[in-house]
Amino acid sequence: MSEKIDPWSSSDIKDYEHVFKEFGLNKFTDYDISDNYLFRRKIVIAHRDFDKIKEAINNKKLFLQMTGIASSGAFHLGHKLNIELFLAIRELGAKSLYGICDIDAYVSRDDKKIKSMEQAKEIAVDNVSDLLALGLEPHEIYVQSQKEKSYYQLTYEISKKITENMFRAIYGHQDLGKMSAVLLQMADILHIQLPENNNKTPTIVGIGIDQDPHARLTRDVTKRLNYDMELPSFIYYKMQKGITESTKMSSSDKNSAVFLTDNKQEIAKKINKAFTGGKISLEEQKEKGGDPNICKIYDIFSFHHKDDKFVENIYDDCKKGKLLCGECKQKCISFLNKFLEEHQQKKEKLKDVAKKIVYGK
Ligand code: SF4
Repeated sequence: MSEKIDPWSSSDIKDYEHVFKEFGLNKFTDYDISDNYLFRRKIVIAHRDFDKIKEAINNKKLFLQMTGIASSGAFHLGHKLNIELFLAIRELGAKSLYGICDIDAYVSRDDKKIKSMEQAKEIAVDNVSDLLALGLEPHEIYVQSQKEKSYYQLTYEISKKITENMFRAIYGHQDLGKMSAVLLQMADILHIQLPENNNKTPTIVGIGIDQDPHARLTRDVTKRLNYDMELPSFIYYKMQKGITESTKMSSSDKNSAVFLTDNKQEIAKKINKAFTGGKISLEEQKEKGGDPNICKIYDIFSFHHKDDKFVENIYDDCKKGKLLCGECKQKCISFLNKFLEEHQQKKEKLKDVAKKIVYGK
């Protein structure tokens, strides 16, 4: 059966192997390139054209990194994963740029969700503060609405190379707002190779596997453009599923995600209600063990806790029935509270810098 990937709806990928085959993605195997936990734990799973980037890393040549997110709501742990990958690739030597896509958020989202450009910009301030607090430098961040003329010229050129049929074949619809957002996203990825920026240079984009339709279209259009540019490479990470049984982590379902803005009460409520791999009774769990492979609490640890030994112990103790879900959830609440408390304090101090980036003054 054909696997549907919709970049606008937090698609739930059930069978990664099938997606690799259907869309021509390559399995990622170069895990020795980085000792970052996303590579150590094989959370990075696929790529398009990574060899070009590997060559640049191994020969200490210039390569670029670009990624971004629409400012359509507060960041959740799924977004944090994207930022962690950005930082990991930056560690490998990439000249890096992160786009907060405020125009994209406004034009491609429902009016009920994003009512005005001003609202998208207010969200952008919050998102940029998160990026800064997580370790990005101000010069590594931009918002679409502040981009220069050449970026928009590139967008017009891209629009000349896309036909209605190409759009429909990849996305299955022709929503005008989403079409405009896609043009901007391609300009985001490609504008760093314009002559006034870095010229033709190997470029890598780290994305969740649900964003692959954008990757395919961008590579296709790059070949048709009258610009001398490297075909962008892509690297994909496994998507973190929602913490409820519904399995999708989505900004529009507040209970499915842990947000970087959540307070202690919200964290306790969400984690205590999260879906686990525990057994019906304590006796049964002590005897047979739990199943961390389907557990949303274990997911939080494996996607975000950077101590391998800690994560391994959770896995082993759960399997052996030595760790029960109540205690495990308390560990998760403590872990999230500690991270979020520090993160939110840092973020508060960075609001003014974020406003300057978003409003340009
Ligand atoms: Fe999940 Fe922890 Fe329960 Fe195991 S013990 S099923 S990892 S919550």
